[in-house]
Amino acid sequence: MYEGSAQLQACMYQYSRAIYRSIKDLIDPYVEQSQQIEYRREVLAACEATMERLAADPHYFSKPERALFQDIRRYFPITAQAEVAWATSEGVNAAVQFIQDQIESGILDGGIARCRATTRKGKPCQRTPLPERDYCPSHQHLEAGRAVAA
Ligand SMILES: [Zn+2]
Repeated sequence: MYEGSAQLQACMYQYSRAIYRSIKDLIDPYVEQSQQIEYRREVLAACEATMERLAADPHYFSKPERALFQDIRRYFPITAQAEVAWATSEGVNAAVQFIQDQIESGILDGGIARCRATTRKGKPCQRTPLPERDYCPSHQHLEAGRAVAA
């Protein structure tokens, strides 16, 4: 695993704990205690799985907050659903924002390989570079240009 990616996983763990803490007291209070413990374990596992997937594949995991809510909503009473949906969305969006900031500031450079080119719209190219290269197939001419300049 890349070093940047390991750091990201550690940060994502903090985010998953934060989401879990924000909703754990809303877990169905009318079930037996053993069931409660099981529910808590399931909710925490779902938070962690979502954050891991987000860290591994931030560009292609669409609507992670919805995915997480769908996974865990059955552990909460109907009266708490709106609050759980809100808290889940806040927590996941904070994590998404954090990952975006890391990528944009270049801290994740090497962690998640992306083409280094900028598209005509001025956004970073999201495509996967060619093996051992910095650019994707459509931008590989830039690599050649760099080599000449160096
Ligand atoms: Zn590209």
